[in-house]
Amino acid sequence: MGKASPKKLPALLLVNIGQLLTFRGGAGAGPRRGRELGETGMVEDAAVLCLGGKIVSVGKTKDALRDPWLKKNRKNVTEIDCAGKVVLPGFVDSHTHPVFVTPRLVDFEKRIEGASYEQIACAGGGIRSSLEAVRKAPKKELVEKVLTAFRDMAAHGTTTVEAKSGYGLTLESELKSVAAIRDAASAWPGTAVPTLLGAHVVPQEFQDCSQKYVELVCTEMIPRAARERLAQFVDVFCDKGAFTPAQTEQIFAAADANGLAARAHIGQLSETTLAPFLRFKPASFDHMDHVSDSDVQQLAKNDTVATLVPGANYFLGLKDYPNARRLIDAGVPVALATDYNPGTSPTISMAMAMSLACTHMKMSPAEAIAAATINGAWALRLADRKGSIEPGKDADLAVFAVNDYREIPYWFGANRCTHTILNGILASGD
Ligand SMILES: [Zn+2]
Repeated sequence: MGKASPKKLPALLLVNIGQLLTFRGGAGAGPRRGRELGETGMVEDAAVLCLGGKIVSVGKTKDALRDPWLKKNRKNVTEIDCAGKVVLPGFVDSHTHPVFVTPRLVDFEKRIEGASYEQIACAGGGIRSSLEAVRKAPKKELVEKVLTAFRDMAAHGTTTVEAKSGYGLTLESELKSVAAIRDAASAWPGTAVPTLLGAHVVPQEFQDCSQKYVELVCTEMIPRAARERLAQFVDVFCDKGAFTPAQTEQIFAAADANGLAARAHIGQLSETTLAPFLRFKPASFDHMDHVSDSDVQQLAKNDTVATLVPGANYFLGLKDYPNARRLIDAGVPVALATDYNPGTSPTISMAMAMSLACTHMKMSPAEAIAAATINGAWALRLADRKGSIEPGKDADLAVFAVNDYREIPYWFGANRCTHTILNGILASGD
């Protein structure tokens, strides 16, 4: 199944929107920082017109209904009466790991019994326990898994997803994983951004010679993924038990040499000095539970986004969460993502990530939504097309059956999304 041609897409008109959060006015100005993060650009009793997969106008319902073009073309326009509901830009989930086969239920139980992340990894659980199934799976099976996740995400309001490989860790299975993301993306009306995470963890075969594995990532995986246009980003898990800062720099340099942008899992388990990586202009540093004051100051002067994934802290049963207030108040651009993965964050719900951000990280509901939309778009370098509701941007919208946007993180654990519009295509969540 291919994507519909944008020219053939029907015109869509959303009217009677109780609260439309546009997050307008940020494009070109860099990611949202500090007080600006909480500015929603709200329009009440609003209407949005989408044509050919793009947003063409945003305004009040009464003005839209008087528009001469609309009056003339009303018959050819699909109208959605939002009846006072809330409409947001579709969520941009800028950090997910959807290419896996089975849930990790043994790890789940072991953790309940008290085992730590590192203890589970040492006992053969963790990331390594997902490898065998992914290596064996035909690509078709992986495509189905990824597509199911994308559809589930869309039903919860997500329209753009960054999707990583990382559960194969051989040349063949990593390329198969990113190809599965590409194939799933072509059958889904939303937007998927593929990331090569060959450097997720050192596989067992290279346990005593991690540097050899890094060479494989740098000299084979990254060049092949770039040449075959299978990935836009290269990611690395830089932490104790994974890859060292020196290896991370080497992998970033290989990404750069092959024309791919960089991002990293960093500061999840321990603090790593970030400054040496900034010369590669990474799009995002993700997790960031541990970060030094001097690095916070550095990040405040850069466009690298700090992507916080509180679902992982929640699911690991941790007491501490990333210190979002410290980052936001210092002027670091912050995004929120699910970190959807089978070991530490098996959720596709951006509303849940936002709820955790509010209750455990003291972000306001407005800040959490901005972090889940416009700053997520910045974290994927897609802010020119995604993350806000403005004429010229892609028609990515989510409708929620609530009267006030603050209810979205408030009713935690429930999905209030009723309609999602992905590149101008309407998907109903009912
Ligand atoms: Zn992750």
